[in-house]
Amino acid sequence: MDNKLLVIKGNILFFEYGFVKKSLLIEDDSISLISDSLHVNQQYKLINAEKYYVIPAFVDGHAHLLSMAKRSEWLDLSKIDSLQKLKEVISETSRIIGPKKWILGYGWDESHWRDEQRYPTRRDLDEVAPDNPVFIRRIDGHLAVVNSLALKKLHIKRNIRGVILGKDGEPTGVLKEDALEYASKQLEYNIDTLAQGLIKVALEAQRKGVSMSHETMDLDDLSSFFYALQKIGNLDIKFYTFIVDQFLDYLISRGLGKLASKNAKIAGVKVFSDGSIGARTAALREPYKDDPSNRGMLLKDRDELVEIFQRADKAGLQLAVHAIGDRAIDTVLEAMKIAKMNSQLRHRIEHFELIDDDHIRIARKLGLIASMQPNFVGQWQMPGGMYEKRLGKNRWRRMNPFRKIIEEGLILSFGSDCMPFDPIFGIWSAVNHPVSDSRIDVLTAIKSYTYYSSYAAFLEDVQGEIKSGKIANLAILSHDPLKIQDIRKIKIIAHIYEGRINYVTWS
Ligand SMILES: [Zn+2]
Repeated sequence: MDNKLLVIKGNILFFEYGFVKKSLLIEDDSISLISDSLHVNQQYKLINAEKYYVIPAFVDGHAHLLSMAKRSEWLDLSKIDSLQKLKEVISETSRIIGPKKWILGYGWDESHWRDEQRYPTRRDLDEVAPDNPVFIRRIDGHLAVVNSLALKKLHIKRNIRGVILGKDGEPTGVLKEDALEYASKQLEYNIDTLAQGLIKVALEAQRKGVSMSHETMDLDDLSSFFYALQKIGNLDIKFYTFIVDQFLDYLISRGLGKLASKNAKIAGVKVFSDGSIGARTAALREPYKDDPSNRGMLLKDRDELVEIFQRADKAGLQLAVHAIGDRAIDTVLEAMKIAKMNSQLRHRIEHFELIDDDHIRIARKLGLIASMQPNFVGQWQMPGGMYEKRLGKNRWRRMNPFRKIIEEGLILSFGSDCMPFDPIFGIWSAVNHPVSDSRIDVLTAIKSYTYYSSYAAFLEDVQGEIKSGKIANLAILSHDPLKIQDIRKIKIIAHIYEGRINYVTWS
């Protein structure tokens, strides 16, 4: 029997028509034929998915799977629902592991807490684990809190940008941006843990129907990542990786082609222009509603941006520019206009959240891809949620206007940013946007999470839709996403990667 021939019978998604009953013939890694009826003999392995719905596998246009892999042994604090509970977990961990050892955690989100909706402080952590250095990263990755011992061990001086001081002039333990970067760099991990973490993450990707992730790394991460991939041999997922702009010189001198492996390709340059709404570091025109003295942090001024954009563009490198707040977006778009960039390089603006009509128009003119995260909408933009609290109703309404983006003719690529790592949740969020004018339909949302996120990686001719000649990267869904009431209930039944089938749940 030749395993290389696979037939999938089922309800197959075509973006032009919706679901149609068809059979797919898959040879090696590609779809070779789509037919109404295929005569199946013993040569073929048949997957009968007539009860199910077959779509192109998701391409997560913005995620951090390497970070997920690195912290695979950290405490997962995302399910914690109060500050009190957080303290208990850390106290308990300290008791189990004993003094001196690091306590590392991630994923806490105070905006969902029942008792106090504030960031923890150094004192909170000192109270429960004075003899362990503690480092806990907020869900958005743009803020962490450390205790006193960790401050000391990490040599964090108060003059580093992003060390937040209290009224007494002492560090509160909250670290943002540069300070956070400085601290995280010192938290070590070894290649074996990373390799194990990547294997776990690849399995998680199968469960979510994801075959590719667009990532961001620095050079240290990149080399550990390549080492780990080498150890593993093969993973059923591909990575499209941007390198942060501090290493622009290196990228220019080295050239992209030399930095690639079977599972990973280097995309271009990532630039951060501001932080996040959650950490109150997204750069705003007007102050935060819940912090009237603060307009966020513009991490680079216009001229710095122009210089980076011009150099990257001249070197033929694709740019992915992180910009969330309106002031950051103003600055980035202005810098892009001045830099006169080559739109063939498909430069991207990441997040592009707090925007107005002018922003959309200018981005369209510049030929930018809007690389947006519907998952943020489900997570924080629902009525009464964190975005509304931080920004007030007027600005809250302006955020993530997906429909307008599409109507204005921008390419809309979707990613999860691991909030959570789940495209199905993102699709539900885009369809159920709290501002009805910003909602898009299910098919459009799926297309942004497959075809257009492939486009954002120059791969739309190879993957991202079900068509003969394209790579057989598919996800089989338990329910019809065009008909089901609550899209979040959809399960991934199987994931097919380059023609190989990975069953997730099958009944
Ligand atoms: Zn991100």
